[in-house]
Amino acid sequence: MGNPTLTEDLECKWPSRFGSWAERAPDTRALCRTVRTIPWRLQPPTVNDVREVLREAVSHRTPIWPISRGCNWGYGSHLPARNGTVILDLSRLDGIGDLDRTSLSVRIEPGVSQTALFKFLQLHAPDIAFNVTGAGGETSVLGNALERGIGYGGEKDRDVFAIEALLPDGTSLGPTKGRNHNARANPAGFSTDSLFIQTNFGIVLGARLRLRIRQEAEDVAILQGPFEALMITLKRAYERQLFVNPTHVGEPGRSRRVSFGLLRTLWNRDPTDDELDRCFPEQRWFVGLTPLHGRRHVVEAMWRELHRAKMPGVKLQRGNARMIDFAAKWLGRVGARYKAARLLALRPLLAFTWGEPGDAGLNSLDGYLVGSNPDHASFGAIYGNAISSFDPNEAQRAAGIVRARWQNSAFTWILVDNRSILTIYTLHFSENEAGGVHEANAAIVEELRRSGLPQYRLDISTPAAPGAEAVVNRLKEAFDPLGLIAPGRYETLCADASR
Ligand SMILES: Cc1cc2nc3c(=O)[nH]c(=O)nc-3n(C[C@H](O)[C@H](O)[C@H](O)COP(=O)(O)OP(=O)(O)OC[C@H]3O[C@@H](n4cnc5c(N)ncnc54)[C@H](O)[C@@H]3O)c2cc1C
Repeated sequence: MGNPTLTEDLECKWPSRFGSWAERAPDTRALCRTVRTIPWRLQPPTVNDVREVLREAVSHRTPIWPISRGCNWGYGSHLPARNGTVILDLSRLDGIGDLDRTSLSVRIEPGVSQTALFKFLQLHAPDIAFNVTGAGGETSVLGNALERGIGYGGEKDRDVFAIEALLPDGTSLGPTKGRNHNARANPAGFSTDSLFIQTNFGIVLGARLRLRIRQEAEDVAILQGPFEALMITLKRAYERQLFVNPTHVGEPGRSRRVSFGLLRTLWNRDPTDDELDRCFPEQRWFVGLTPLHGRRHVVEAMWRELHRAKMPGVKLQRGNARMIDFAAKWLGRVGARYKAARLLALRPLLAFTWGEPGDAGLNSLDGYLVGSNPDHASFGAIYGNAISSFDPNEAQRAAGIVRARWQNSAFTWILVDNRSILTIYTLHFSENEAGGVHEANAAIVEELRRSGLPQYRLDISTPAAPGAEAVVNRLKEAFDPLGLIAPGRYETLCADASR
């Protein structure tokens, strides 16, 4: 694709008229260390200002890259796919409203972070929760859903509906009375929502988000053991419908990094190897986390069934906020220092399962200072992924392809349901390895695709696999004929080769 009328205009002058919310030559450091030249980052405070930006972009033929909060860490953060693209940062549109208890949904804007929504619900509806990801409190709920992110309660794109969007010609799309209802995601006829998920046809300004009622039991199941035994146990749990939410399984490399980060956050210093081993003896195992929500006696029955389904060698543990707080206090009192520290350190990670966002996942990044900007971590990280069927050998095959090209890698397997496993990989690297790691990742993506293990989500440097371009190009031509919105995003050809 790529429109001939667009030029790389690094001198681009028009955004200067937006004064206070236009930043010239913004910070381009990203966790994945992709290099881009960006003339401006614009942070319009109102929808009318967004319209104004769009009008200017159209009249000057300047490409723009909409982001919600720009925390797409490991996949490109706030950076565009191509040089010379102006970043349209929608983080100042952060309204939360129209909480509808009967349809269990709320309207959110792009700038609404996970922490902001959590606080809003605590204040206005503490009995209601939303599906939280492990990506950190500052990430955008809507931005993540538009990327088909995965939360501890399931796939995030399934949580959003009634998407409100702006097209380059100024047309607004969104739900209308008589056609849409808060209680159903789709109206009769064509649903426009899918036009804006993993595409580059318009700018999303709002949507409704599905919520859930908090249950009497909001437990988390922790399963530990050797890979094969653990996966067979999990497969049985899904087949017998004991589990309905995804399971996040960390391999020993990931578990060690996560445990290190959790203790570092708790103690505000690096733990020693000995302390790490004492607090987290299971780091050498594969560890799975699954939310177990429901009436107390139903969860107890599921737990008993899970013990029946369990393979030898697999250890099962269970927790919830109250149990953990009580046990940590008690263990501290009886002097079981490491056991108490283990529980306190784990709490923020386990809290994702009962809908409490936080930065426990970010703390596992190498060279990341707790509470700082992940893009400024002293080590880089690239995230990638592969889809396979619910077959542990396939998941291992995906990891093998990654490891063969980049040794310093870590893996989480997300068992989404009883059909599929997502292999999420991280390539860790130091500054002087930045060139090599991008080459390695391009080769990994290529080989995964050739091996029948395609991606479910793409970073900004990876072009879409061929196959849908006949339709995508036609839609792009219809909605954005000048190719102004996020050129190179989810397109089959990525013009910018600089990774
Ligand atoms: C340690 C770590 C843990 C992570 N854990 C998870 C996890 O558990 N689950 C998960 O899904 N991800 C995870 N991530 C990846 C990533 O950080 C999250 O997906 C994050 O939510 C994306 O950032 P954001 O929500 O601010 O979206 P943004 O960066 O704002 O948006 C992402 C992309 O969506 C498009 N877009 C966004 N907003 C708009 C809009 N308004 N209009 C049009 N297009 C738009 C753009 O292409 C943009 O680049 C993790 C990353 C790290 C480093």
